[in-house]
Amino acid sequence: MADPLSRERVYNFSPGPAVLPVPVLKQIQDEMLCLPGAGCSILEASHRGKEYMAIQDAAKASLQRLLGIGDDFDILFLQGGARLQFSMTAINLLRGQSRPAQYVLTGSWGKFAVEEAIKEGPVEVVYDAKATNYDRLPNFAELKLRPDSAYVHITSNETIQGVQFLTDPSSGGAPLVCDASSDFLCRPLDMRQYGMVYACAQKNAGPSGLTVAIIRKDLIERSGGNLPGYLSYRNHAKEGSMWNTPPTFAIYVLGLVAKWLESTIGGLAQMRLLNERKAKLLYSVLDKFPELYIGHAQLSSRSLMNVTFRFPNEAIEKKFLAGAEQLKLCSLKGHRSVGGIRASIYNAMPIEGVQILADYMSDFANKSA
Ligand SMILES: *Cc1c(COP(=O)(O)O)cnc(C)c1O
Repeated sequence: MADPLSRERVYNFSPGPAVLPVPVLKQIQDEMLCLPGAGCSILEASHRGKEYMAIQDAAKASLQRLLGIGDDFDILFLQGGARLQFSMTAINLLRGQSRPAQYVLTGSWGKFAVEEAIKEGPVEVVYDAKATNYDRLPNFAELKLRPDSAYVHITSNETIQGVQFLTDPSSGGAPLVCDASSDFLCRPLDMRQYGMVYACAQKNAGPSGLTVAIIRKDLIERSGGNLPGYLSYRNHAKEGSMWNTPPTFAIYVLGLVAKWLESTIGGLAQMRLLNERKAKLLYSVLDKFPELYIGHAQLSSRSLMNVTFRFPNEAIEKKFLAGAEQLKLCSLKGHRSVGGIRASIYNAMPIEGVQILADYMSDFANKSA
């Protein structure tokens, strides 16, 4: 990172849009004026042209390899963010069903998902960690899940609270629908447990403007015939995500990120190990100085992606954030509903950045003592 522009780059702990791998950014830069073979920029290329089509096919194939996705699933590239999926899941999979959809609420995003779903059909909240301000996951085996519910919805990583499912829970028969927006591609998934996994790209997988939806083909058949065209999974699946113009640039970047995961990182099992190492650096400082760093998540629910903690008072927090900025450790302020600090350490956050933050936290604690 010798050039001046790179030297200005901070360690970006933003929750999203978030840090991307530098080699990916470099490749985008290299190819910006002319995509190899296309004679124009990716921003100018037709979505029907063979160069772009090859890019979209390659991105899809990369996701299939990374997650072990078989022919029984379709991968859709959509727009509207994860929040449109809160509606689309319910419009396609719940509307017209006699059975309720069951929602597991482990944080803020799950609540927003319910707000949209209840407009479309019966919803049963089978778990709500509100009483403890969403600091924990349920014991899945104890939930009253119905094998015949329309689907069971979880949020694999609650970005604001920093609680994450690190195994793939079993719904006991109903299709499991997972909002994986902030931990997509952070670890391998056992796709056999899922009916659908969706994720906006801008946390852990690419830029904003793209949402990936992986749906079991038999569920796509549920889409009603009379929906607004864009809202129907069936339309997108039938047209290979070309029912209308897909977000071509964002899909191109997602493809580069997926390739980086495959070739440079070595797959999602390796990525998980790295993510565990990074998260441990921070959690071990929290555990060492529990009076200063008050962790939000219960130990067994801690997220590998968003590390959340508070201070005994706001004056210390201000001082902590000011000192962090000086070390180019940026965007650490937590969401107002939890307060304190949130360090988002997605796949692309280098371990050096996390180490510098961990060292700073240790120093800060020792000096405060
Ligand atoms: C960010 C986020 C969303 C919302 O995504 P948008 O693309 O802004 O609609 C939904 N769920 C989770 C878990 C998120 O982290």
